Amino acid sequence: MALCERVRRLNLAICHRCYRTSFIFNQRKLSDHVSSKPKASVGAESSIDHPIYTHEHFALKASLNKIIEQEINPFVDKWEEEGKFPAHKIFKILGSAGFLGVNKPTEYGGLGLDFSYSVAVSEELGNIRCGGVPMAIGVQTDMATPALARFGTPELKKEFLLPSITGDKVACLGVSEVGAGSDVASIKTKAVRKGDELVINGGKMWTTNGTQADWMCLLANTSDGPPHRNKSLICLPMNLPGIHIARKIDKMGMWSSDTAEVFFDDVQVPCQNIIGQEGMGFTYQMLQFQEERLWGVANILTMMELVVQETIQYTKQRKIFNQPVLHHQAVHFRLAELATEVELLRSLLYRATALYIKGNDVTKLASMAKLKAGRLARELGDSCLQFWGGMGFTSDVLVSRFYRDSRLMSIGAGADEVMLSIICKYMDTLPRK
Ligand SMILES: Cc1cc2nc3c(=O)[nH]c(=O)nc-3n(C[C@H](O)[C@H](O)[C@H](O)COP(=O)(O)OP(=O)(O)OC[C@H]3O[C@@H](n4cnc5c(N)ncnc54)[C@H](O)[C@@H]3O)c2cc1C
Repeated sequence: MALCERVRRLNLAICHRCYRTSFIFNQRKLSDHVSSKPKASVGAESSIDHPIYTHEHFALKASLNKIIEQEINPFVDKWEEEGKFPAHKIFKILGSAGFLGVNKPTEYGGLGLDFSYSVAVSEELGNIRCGGVPMAIGVQTDMATPALARFGTPELKKEFLLPSITGDKVACLGVSEVGAGSDVASIKTKAVRKGDELVINGGKMWTTNGTQADWMCLLANTSDGPPHRNKSLICLPMNLPGIHIARKIDKMGMWSSDTAEVFFDDVQVPCQNIIGQEGMGFTYQMLQFQEERLWGVANILTMMELVVQETIQYTKQRKIFNQPVLHHQAVHFRLAELATEVELLRSLLYRATALYIKGNDVTKLASMAKLKAGRLARELGDSCLQFWGGMGFTSDVLVSRFYRDSRLMSIGAGADEVMLSIICKYMDTLPRK
């Protein structure tokens, strides 16, 4: 499709959705949401010579920034304190404006754009002043739904994908279990055929959005075959008899995101709820992980940039030994070094994304980017927090929230060591068993 036609379609889509959104927001004016002058956000730059973003990407980011500043950021501190955010309310706002399905098919309410738009959205969501809310949104858009969009039947997509894109249903992803996180192949949850139904027994751990979700993209063993070919992804409504939310897990970070432990006790679901081919769940999940990892990298890049910027502002006005903290060479050199690393990571992300949207396998690059993002976030959070002194140790500042929240990057969606193993596999240096 010609570029100008795509711009026209995107603008129409954004305007149309913002119009609908304006009704939901107590008749707020359309111009509030599509103003051409968004509040400056970190990462705001122009499309001229940008390696992967066009004018359309920037238009999308600008519209999203409006929603973040009006509907999310003013409430983040409260949600962090409460240990939960209102997922249905926020997803409805984002869904009505088109942000929950930018790369999903138009037949199901998506904008039908490529994955680079998801990366742009994720980058912009990094301007939310906590990690928990963007992570919950990412689960909905790029972790629980890619396999369904790609391999699901029209009936399944109508029932689960469409309302997830419009923000009427909250999704969660059930892969990890008490006994299996890094080693996905060893999950124990079973879905056994009984006539036209699957009977599910087992449990899931660390389920983001788990206490609020309407459906789960569940990975379960559907046969006794070899561990890479006995699993299926299943759309599981969360209101079925036999589903128990055992507890909301108390965590060191990501406070505004609810994380649940869930049990299944003879839960019955139609066999048609299997996504794609039975037995292909492991493979689909591995594919789904690529988008999840690139999404995570894009999101944390903006947060890292924000933390560096706020550290510059703070150390500029805070004086020690008769000069600003920032004027000490150890401080401004370190911040320059960290900013350089952030830019290096950004280049890797854009390269992997550019290759991915052309249909290449970017498993190695996505794993490298995820590994580097986790390590850099830890370094950056630690160094910046140090420059804030005692203030950095309080709960009131972004840097301490980032320090807590970003620790997950080296653990969730495949720990650093899992990324290293994947990279080694692609380098052909992993000893064969
Ligand atoms: C806040 C939060 C939200 C989450 N959300 C979800 C969700 O929505 N859905 C979902 O399915 N899961 C979710 N997870 C789970 C997450 O993906 C897992 O925690 C992660 O995959 C690690 O698994 P594990 O915790 O079982 O650690 P384990 O598998 O027990 O691993 C422990 C440690 O072993 C080390 N290790 C792993 N592999 C190797 C290796 N090959 N060589 C050497 N060392 C190794 C690593 O250091 C790793 O951290 C979430 C987790 C958290 C904390």
